[in-house]
Amino acid sequence: MTMRDFDSKDGKMIFAGMNVEDIAKEFGTPCYVVDEQRVRENYRNVYNAFSRYMETEVHYACKANTNLAVLRILQQEGAGIDAVSIGEVRTCLKAGFAPEKIMYTGVFVSEEELKEVAETGVLINLDSVSEMEKLARIKPGAPVSFRITPGVGSGHGDKVITGNKGAKFGIPKEHVVETYLRAQDLGLNPIGIHAHIGSGGQHVEPFIEEAEVLSELINQIGEAGIQLQFVDIGGGIGVPYRPNEDEMDLNEMASEVCDVFEQNTDVRKIILEPGRYIICDAVVLLTTCTDVKDADTKKYVGVDAGFNTLIRPAMYDSYHYIQDGSKFGKACTSRYDIAGPICETGDYLGHDRVLPDVEEGDVMVVYNAGAYGFSMSSNYNSRPLCAEVLVNEGKAELIREREQVDEQWRHQIVPKRLQ
Ligand SMILES: *Cc1c(COP(=O)(O)O)cnc(C)c1O
Repeated sequence: MTMRDFDSKDGKMIFAGMNVEDIAKEFGTPCYVVDEQRVRENYRNVYNAFSRYMETEVHYACKANTNLAVLRILQQEGAGIDAVSIGEVRTCLKAGFAPEKIMYTGVFVSEEELKEVAETGVLINLDSVSEMEKLARIKPGAPVSFRITPGVGSGHGDKVITGNKGAKFGIPKEHVVETYLRAQDLGLNPIGIHAHIGSGGQHVEPFIEEAEVLSELINQIGEAGIQLQFVDIGGGIGVPYRPNEDEMDLNEMASEVCDVFEQNTDVRKIILEPGRYIICDAVVLLTTCTDVKDADTKKYVGVDAGFNTLIRPAMYDSYHYIQDGSKFGKACTSRYDIAGPICETGDYLGHDRVLPDVEEGDVMVVYNAGAYGFSMSSNYNSRPLCAEVLVNEGKAELIREREQVDEQWRHQIVPKRLQ
């Protein structure tokens, strides 16, 4: 499969059975729109690919999108959760996930946060020796796993590779066995092993290398007398962001990765933590063209979403495919940069895009906006966080109200003497 695309009806884009102009009219822009059925399908794709070979748990890496409605959908599907902060743990408990379904993987965790997380009863995946020693004092006997640094990296850019040697994450390979033994000495109960090599990888090979490293460690830990119940290979499954890019072959990944564990270890349960794969192509960002500007060397489509709403292009130079939903399927006649209302030159959504003649009021559609879209948005330039909408069976429902400007003042205090 290549990148997900949409149908056109009377020159308008249809998303999950709805005309995008109608959604924009009803809820305003910018807004993120979630296709419920696609979230469910994506979850099932990963689960089904792996569960043919091994007992499988899919833990949605919720930092990709923590909307409570999205979490409910995945809870209904039977997903577990990968949470990276106490805020995410509490949000997922609120959404109805049982503590046993949640695994917490922090990095440079404060003692305060560790205490709070331990109290919730979720499984803690330890990132360092110091965190282990703290937890042994806070919660003697706690079941734990460890995040290890496999020395294998993968990702859509340097900023999102996490598994390489020298990374800030995990226990270096050379110290893994002694760390598991020490955990036991401290009265903890090590039951699993975890690695996460990075985000947005498009190739199967790094996952196989990761599985080989994990297998070797599982065996070394076993020889030292500790039998593990599960192996967690993290997230990082990529998604095609360009029209002709191929999807990574999930079935190939599942068969090869599971084969490594089945051939080489006694571990029979695998956990995966996809974030991007589950939510990315289930969401589009709708943004209205506010201005079309001819700037000598370039033409601009000015829109009402900037890097306050979607930071990935500005932060990682990420590519998002963009179309004019109001003239969908019309002949492309001009070349534009698409840029937002933030007062910085780095504020853009796309460079050099060939589009039909865009007009003010057109609804522009940014594809693949579900992962690290809303969850990374900010109030920069004092712009309110945008709305989120859920579409199911041709009906749209608001799942997050657009923020109001006065809500941004709520936590600010002007000292009496300045009033
Ligand atoms: C971010 C993260 C993931 C998910 O990564 P994706 O690329 O979105 O699949 C999984 N596990 C951990 C520990 C993470 O930090």
